[in-house]
Amino acid sequence: MKPAAILPWLQPHWQTLMTAHQQKRLPHALLLGGQRGLGKTQLAEQLVYALLCQDVRPDGSVCGHCRGCHLLSAGHHPDFIRLNPLENSQNILIDQVRGLIQFCTLTSHYGGYQIALIEPAEAMNQNAANGLLKLLEEPPDNTLLILVSHRPMQLLATIRSRCQRFDLGRVNQTEINTWLQAQLEPEQDIDLLLKLTLNAPLAALVLAQGEDMKIRRAVFNDIDGLIQGKIDPVKTAQQWSQYNINYLLYWLITWLMDVIRFSSTAQKQWLVNHDQLSRIEFFSQQLDLKKSFELLELLGEHYRLFNSTANIKPQSLLEVVTMTFVETTLPLRK
Ligand SMILES: [Zn+2]
Repeated sequence: MKPAAILPWLQPHWQTLMTAHQQKRLPHALLLGGQRGLGKTQLAEQLVYALLCQDVRPDGSVCGHCRGCHLLSAGHHPDFIRLNPLENSQNILIDQVRGLIQFCTLTSHYGGYQIALIEPAEAMNQNAANGLLKLLEEPPDNTLLILVSHRPMQLLATIRSRCQRFDLGRVNQTEINTWLQAQLEPEQDIDLLLKLTLNAPLAALVLAQGEDMKIRRAVFNDIDGLIQGKIDPVKTAQQWSQYNINYLLYWLITWLMDVIRFSSTAQKQWLVNHDQLSRIEFFSQQLDLKKSFELLELLGEHYRLFNSTANIKPQSLLEVVTMTFVETTLPLRK
């Protein structure tokens, strides 16, 4: 990890943390929560730098050349430990937490803080979470545990209650719009990008810069083809299984919700996929509403499943989805 500037929408949180640090009021454990793509990890890493840099400035910016900064940049500062899911696993395991407990029994090498970054904290399995809870119940002095979580509500309530919580999801809309305008070409639809990423500016930037917006349009074309009986559901599922499944399911869910919403209100201001208005308008008259709700439930289940379980083969689950799309059209209007 490298020292970096604090992102503008995270400044208020940074100020709070720096003030607490200067007044020696930092708690033993912090929980930085909020949707993916806000910069939570970056904020946590900058805090680690600010606490371990030996020549830190009052605003928390770091020198970049002291021993502390060098060791952090090189990835082996002895007073810092990081817990992430191991390769080929979606979980943080009890052995890793045991390593953390062991780390906390040592005295600080350089006389300052000992810091652990756990990310994402909801990846801890039950044993690991229970192990961490014991540590939180009797936190050692001069130790800071930083938990980063995309879904803090999935953590044990007893873990949440022992951390000072920062909800990074409440961002200043003007600030993130201005920041994105400065990063992107003027023709980019920032409003749409933010709607598709749950208002997370870093995620919106990644979405705009990669191929995913093109893939999204291709998926909407596929839905047209499926509903009109022009393409094969099995082949479509095979194609879809190559995509980022989280994005794919989120697009399908928002598309279907837009259609359902439009069919009952005919209002366009609440649509997520506002660039697809004519399509949504058309399908809002074509879909069987009851079956649409069933499909929505199915997509929601798949979304939760892909988010909680490792190593799922998406193809067969997506076949169920594409076939259900075909059945969701009203028979009379095919
Ligand atoms: Zn430094």
